[in-house]
Amino acid sequence: MEFFKLSSVVRENIKRLKPYEAKEIPCKIKLDANELPFSINIFDIVKDIKISLNRYPDPEAKTLRKTIAKKLKINYEKIVIGNGSDELIYYLIITFGQPVLYPTPTFAMYGVISDVLDIKKIECPLDENFDLDIERMEKLIINQKPHLIFLSSPNNPTGNTFSNEKILKIINLAKNNSCLVVVDEAYQPFCSKKGFLSFIKDYKNLVILRTLSKIGLAGLRVGYLIADEEIVKEINKVRLPYNVDSLSQYIAEKTLNSFYPKIQNYIKEIKKERSRLLKELSKIDKIKVYPSEANFILFKVKDADKISSQLIKRGIVLRNLSLIIEDALRVTVGTRQENDEFLKALREILKV
Ligand SMILES: *Cc1c(COP(=O)(O)O)cnc(C)c1O
Repeated sequence: MEFFKLSSVVRENIKRLKPYEAKEIPCKIKLDANELPFSINIFDIVKDIKISLNRYPDPEAKTLRKTIAKKLKINYEKIVIGNGSDELIYYLIITFGQPVLYPTPTFAMYGVISDVLDIKKIECPLDENFDLDIERMEKLIINQKPHLIFLSSPNNPTGNTFSNEKILKIINLAKNNSCLVVVDEAYQPFCSKKGFLSFIKDYKNLVILRTLSKIGLAGLRVGYLIADEEIVKEINKVRLPYNVDSLSQYIAEKTLNSFYPKIQNYIKEIKKERSRLLKELSKIDKIKVYPSEANFILFKVKDADKISSQLIKRGIVLRNLSLIIEDALRVTVGTRQENDEFLKALREILKV
């Protein structure tokens, strides 16, 4: 007789979940995950490395926090480092969640992590320009009393920023309803508008999320948040003491200190390529292309599913969003050559 039944110990909300699939489609040209197509040589970064691997990492990641703080001209005590900003989203929801409000479509992790933690989520559709539906958001804040609002701006996967006025309206209303607002600025380095960092000192309910993943260090898993010290104090209660390993701390710090001009050049190149790609895509009248302030471009095309698989056959992988936004595909801005190969393949497939 077998008595052990795994299902009797799995939490009910976990039973209902499917694992989040970060699918790897092996392809020559990878334009699906909003990574930077350029990389700093790891040996250049670690050539003078002095780390004792037998010792635990700095639990407070002080050197890295101070490096980031100096760049942003803020106090390092306003910073928390995460194993990717995904981990910080997790910490934010554990610490403050119930319910969590965010517009859709947006970054999947806000909803995924809420589900894992069995925390109620409220989704508010964006308007036809992918901007915030401010009236609806305001009603939800007042009636549903969320504790936490996530605003990805520039928004993934739509590529636009939300209107500054609307974001500020939400931050103010949230403040008066004791609710935190997280402005997720993962794509800020590619954005032409100023982000919300300067508002941290005025709003005790504001949290900014940033990451090194989209500027060349996706493999490292380093993200950070900036908020008032009181918020930081609460998050640090749930943060695992050694959540960021020594190597990641070292490489992140070294990259920011010694290779930043190089990163900035890469970003400049991506922005240039983004304009070119936008221009070329908008010449194709079988597709509708959306403006972007990020390192990716959203476009709509009939039979998006089919087009996506035909691109994969030619060795080019995009993000197929057609289950989330009708007919939509998202292409990460690659190198000039990658973008040309993508454009060529797309034109061939569309016969234009
Ligand atoms: C990619 C992305 C993140 C996750 O970044 P990591 O630091 O790699 O975990 C967070 N927010 C948005 C909107 C993203 O697109």
